Amino acid sequence: MARYKGPKCRLCRREGVKLYLKGARCESEKCAVSKRHQAPGQHGTSRRRLSEYGVQMREKQKAKRIYGLLEKQFKLYVDQALKSKGVTGEALLQRLESRLDNVVYRSGFAVSRSQARQFIRNGLFLVNGEVKKVPSEQISIGDIVKPIDFGKIHLREGFVLPEWLDANVKDKYIKYSKLPTLDNLGENLNVQLIIEFYSR
Ligand code: SF4
Repeated sequence: MARYKGPKCRLCRREGVKLYLKGARCESEKCAVSKRHQAPGQHGTSRRRLSEYGVQMREKQKAKRIYGLLEKQFKLYVDQALKSKGVTGEALLQRLESRLDNVVYRSGFAVSRSQARQFIRNGLFLVNGEVKKVPSEQISIGDIVKPIDFGKIHLREGFVLPEWLDANVKDKYIKYSKLPTLDNLGENLNVQLIIEFYSR
């Protein structure tokens, strides 16, 4: 699948917030958002006041960048959420959070979602005992995610396991115990704005 290959820090500077795309560097003084607050490019210093449409668009761009998705794939999740019976914003969040690459990242097995994708493509993770190589695979409640070889995977320093994942320390696996809710969202995203953008 096509993917953005440009500088990751530029994406954070564009959104004006840390999107945590580069692991340990994001927590360090080297973080480009901490050093420079203006958006990238010639007109980066003059941030305009955004229209309602602009605010909604920036929020969906931020979400796409956090989860490392391109428009087509992101729109697919939005369409699925719009067809679901529950709260649409929450349904979108649950689809994004249930991706295997996100679960591996949330479990602390990778420093970023892009590293999680790389590990998965290299066949380093089992889901319910089977090797899975597709980062977008949807994980369901009760599924068990486990690294094949802990020699190649190190737990990310300082990560906090979200409450919808359970860690079995003895057997070294993560269980997807329940779906996340909007209250659990740790990424400072306003999913309602995103749904409004696509519902126009
Ligand atoms: Fe974003 Fe991390 Fe780069 Fe900071 S270091 S700008 S949080 S990718």
